[in-house]
Amino acid sequence: MKKSFFFFLLSFSISQSASTQSPEVLLLRKFVNNNAGNIINEFRELLSLPNVAADPGGQQKTAAFIMTMMNNRGIQKVQLLNASTPGVPPVVYGEVMVPGAKQTLIFYAHYDGQPVNPAQWAKALDPFEPKIFSNAIDKEGINIPFPADGNYLNEWRIYARSAADDKAGVDAILNAYDAIRKSGLVPGCNLKFFFEGEEEAGSTHLNEILEKYRPILQSDLWIICDGPVHQSGKKQIVFGVRGDTHLDLTVYASKRPLHSGHYGNWAPNPAMMLAKLLASMKDDNGRVTIKGFYDDVTPLTAFERKALADVPAADEQMKKELGISTVEMKGVTLSEAINQPSLNINGMQSGNVGKLASNQIPTYATAVVDLRLVLGNDWQRQQQKVIDHIKAQGYYVTDREPSDEERKKYAQIIKVIPGQDGVNAQRTSMDLPIIQKVIAAVKITAKDPIVLQPTMGGTLPLFLFEKYLNAKTVTVPIANHDNNQHAENENIRIGNLFEGIETMGSLMMIK
Ligand SMILES: [Zn+2]
Repeated sequence: MKKSFFFFLLSFSISQSASTQSPEVLLLRKFVNNNAGNIINEFRELLSLPNVAADPGGQQKTAAFIMTMMNNRGIQKVQLLNASTPGVPPVVYGEVMVPGAKQTLIFYAHYDGQPVNPAQWAKALDPFEPKIFSNAIDKEGINIPFPADGNYLNEWRIYARSAADDKAGVDAILNAYDAIRKSGLVPGCNLKFFFEGEEEAGSTHLNEILEKYRPILQSDLWIICDGPVHQSGKKQIVFGVRGDTHLDLTVYASKRPLHSGHYGNWAPNPAMMLAKLLASMKDDNGRVTIKGFYDDVTPLTAFERKALADVPAADEQMKKELGISTVEMKGVTLSEAINQPSLNINGMQSGNVGKLASNQIPTYATAVVDLRLVLGNDWQRQQQKVIDHIKAQGYYVTDREPSDEERKKYAQIIKVIPGQDGVNAQRTSMDLPIIQKVIAAVKITAKDPIVLQPTMGGTLPLFLFEKYLNAKTVTVPIANHDNNQHAENENIRIGNLFEGIETMGSLMMIK
């Protein structure tokens, strides 16, 4: 015990001191400091190009600008990768082949952004007119001029749509390569660049592009540069995503609404039936009681369990922020909870409430159930477990409005519409040698210990890379956690952008 702890301390101090000794990271940092003005000027141009799905012309200009950025950096084979379906925003692609390199990394970011409603943005802001502030607006930051001398402070923020999600990713990746070549360094591996244009619209045609361009998209690993660093501000690496699927449930009772005085106690109430059915799916400790619900889960490895235990706890901070005093699964942390499959009620509806409330027995009650999945789960199998549970509660399950015959025959009738939108989870093992190199490369750029998350709670279509290319992925986010992505007042903290360039550059030096 003692010995391993000592070893841990030793390796810890070595990796920490390495952060100040890696000459390559110091060179990258120097380049960023000396070229901050140029980097930000170019970034401002990129941010001023509209990149929302409703503006295909703006998206084309954005893609063309990124191609120019790549050509200016001497990146080879710069081209657009088009889906087989016409009109889909293309991927911007390019590559750098390094003589003697044994491995190939593909760097992914997306250049499209979420829709904007300028009326919701702060008064001083326009989504496509980047502005710089002395701090976050909600931390009393004020609008300042872009400095003529190129001296930028870490706490400053640039406000614009996609400043964080995910033009920051595009910018950090391309400037990392620039920093390497202009600092007289040579990347340790072959580099490929893949900038998607349809991520915020659900990557609906990504499969077509991956399939069509399979030969040029071969690699040893995809580095996904998207999303925020840990809430604590520490850099993090995320090794997987949860999957997701849905079920629409509708319980039927009498054919017409009934007077609750005349029929209450006698006629079945669908809201009560649905409430009981849903309540039967979880126990008081938040565990799903559906048979076999947790059976397929691939257990975390020892390395992953250790990483999970080391994730800084955000539970108390989040409980306070959210105004809740307890959690659903007692004794389970947020990080642990997102590493298990979940069953969540997205919404329920039956009869009317508030001003429209009336003394009635409604005719039906409906709910949308959302199933998040982890590695090992299959979305259709997981849906089936819920359906089997409903049947085991005595329900007759149909996929349409019940007929009079069915109403006569069955006491409990439910319509179940399984969503066809399923996405399985994906997780890359932390034990792989190339992943160990990724962890080391990010570590040497950070002052603080980095956070290793076996999975993020949300869902991204990373399984597509595995399905079409048999490829592994790892997510290395760079944005500040309070970047307001997908909402108004989106921003990137200057320190996060600059450190992101270092992180991406260090990854490009992997041998
Ligand atoms: Zn994104």
